[in-house]
Amino acid sequence: MANEWGSPFSGTSLARNSFSGGQLFGKHPGGEFRPNGFHNGLDFGSIDHPGNDLRAVHSGTVTFAGNPGIAGLGALVIVIQSAGINIVYQEFASSTANARVKTGDTVTLGQVIGIRNTEHLHLGMTRMDWRQAQQYAFTDNGTWLDPLPILTSGTSGGETPTQNKGETTMQCIYSKGKAMYYFTGDKVKILTDPAQVNILKTIYRDNNGKDMPVYDWSGTNPTSDLLLTVLKNNLAG
Ligand SMILES: [Zn+2]
Repeated sequence: MANEWGSPFSGTSLARNSFSGGQLFGKHPGGEFRPNGFHNGLDFGSIDHPGNDLRAVHSGTVTFAGNPGIAGLGALVIVIQSAGINIVYQEFASSTANARVKTGDTVTLGQVIGIRNTEHLHLGMTRMDWRQAQQYAFTDNGTWLDPLPILTSGTSGGETPTQNKGETTMQCIYSKGKAMYYFTGDKVKILTDPAQVNILKTIYRDNNGKDMPVYDWSGTNPTSDLLLTVLKNNLAG
């Protein structure tokens, strides 16, 4: 199933509350130690998400597997291109010997691609060239995508054990005037770039076989302001 997504460690949860604030993408309590307080990926700790076999979260093609020579990314980085996204696995290994794939390999969802022997895996996703995107590692400008809604949008039908039923069914995009919002099923995110809207729609369509619901609340609906206030209170911080 080419368009499905999963957890990088077998049987571990993708529920938002299985991650601490500092592990989550974006700005969250516990992540303030970083420049600008911004975390450009999702961390899977060896304690909260145990396991040493690192598995592909999506099928794709390996575009890099080796020592990146970039400070902070660890001794081994594996990049797999999937669905137009560069999925960057970093900080999980102390040696390039931990790689189980090489550049050019085709991988399937769940295939073991490396061995984790550090305290965490940092999973990043970007549509930009992954090396160029490093300049925005601490800049929340849309270069880096939040992996969690992508990971959890991708398990259609709930066949995967890590799937939390119901997470995907509430996803929608809604607009009011020119403002676009994405409801992840948990939080509301303001979408600042049409590219973000398009990629979310594409992923949703690929994984669910239908378009993501889009609601326009700019009309005369007297409750739209009330609804927007409620949803804004759930805005991801
Ligand atoms: Zn990280």
